[in-house]
Amino acid sequence: MFEKKDQKQAGKSSELTALSELGEFGLIDRLTKNIQCFHPETLKGVGDDAAVIATGDKVMLLSTDLLVEGIHFDLTYMPLKHLGYKAAVVNISDIAAMNGIPLQMTVSIAVSSRFPVEALDDLYSGILAACEKYHVDLVGGDTSSSVKGLLISVTITGTARPEEVVYRSGTRSGDLLCVTGDLGSAYMGLLILEREKKVFQANPAMQPELSGFDYQIRRQLKPEARTDIRNVLMGAGIRPTAMIDISDGLASEILHLCKQSNTGCRLFEEKIPIDPQTRELALEYNIIPTITALSGGEDYELLFTVSQSDYEKIKDIEGITIIGHMTDNSGEKVMITPDGKQVELTAQGWNAWTKS
Ligand code: ADP
Ligand code: MG
Repeated sequence: MFEKKDQKQAGKSSELTALSELGEFGLIDRLTKNIQCFHPETLKGVGDDAAVIATGDKVMLLSTDLLVEGIHFDLTYMPLKHLGYKAAVVNISDIAAMNGIPLQMTVSIAVSSRFPVEALDDLYSGILAACEKYHVDLVGGDTSSSVKGLLISVTITGTARPEEVVYRSGTRSGDLLCVTGDLGSAYMGLLILEREKKVFQANPAMQPELSGFDYQIRRQLKPEARTDIRNVLMGAGIRPTAMIDISDGLASEILHLCKQSNTGCRLFEEKIPIDPQTRELALEYNIIPTITALSGGEDYELLFTVSQSDYEKIKDIEGITIIGHMTDNSGEKVMITPDGKQVELTAQGWNAWTKS
């Protein structure tokens, strides 16, 4: 553990900083700000959905994600097979967000003795189902015991031609802001599962009331990666100028694009695609439906920008919605409500170290 005496050795006199003060993004910024890359092949290091590494006439895309029991998943309602599938998919999604093709993955697990072998069989059946669906080879990993709970770390590679790679930093003022699919349903699925967990804890004889919410629950438990979008856009002759996957919520991802591209943006609230049932459910939960899209997260749809000159090509593609545009005022990151009010976009993201 890092104690006061270590602080003294480090020659610092100020108080230690709580992780909750920085939050996830603040911590990443702090840990990575002095990183130096030594190899010219490292075309992009920290800061995008995947690193980009030159390998001959193609680039290798490389990304990793860590899932921790009790932080990212709750096994009371997450079947292990689904968890395996989701662990693979969130990584595949990062390759899709670079406009690449996923190729190989490694899977490392740390597992406590509370899990029977059959539970891990289930986990792997989910991982392998995702590998089969997305044509990814599982090529290695590592296995360890853990004192408590389950940890899963997945690393993935992908490929693309250098000119195909889409970064977070490429959007320009005037570009159209687009999103695939619909948003907010994964979050409503989570709320339904949390509600039924509470009911069950209060009275274990109660059966969970999940019927009718299949879409929201599927979006939460079995998300898919939008690897199809690469071909859809290529087929339409469109190359996005910037792209990111929606893991933390629309607001947070838009702000990432703005920050990395040094632009502002205007998002139109009534354009945000939200499933009608998700909208109704949100209202039942006393949540403004837009909030489920802006701050919910885990939809794993793609958020991207295209040049205004591609408007005719993109406007009628099914399953893609234009929700706003970028501006040259990097101080202006706003959502316009249907009655014309401007609301500043803030990244709720999530702070793993805040007690709730
Ligand atoms: P994503 O939501 O796409 O998984 P993250 O927000 O986790 O991305 O990470 C943002 C960027 O910071 C990525 O480029 C990632 O590789 C990098 N990163 C995250 N954590 C660390 C770390 N502990 N050390 C170095 N780089 C990190
Ligand atoms: Mg990502």
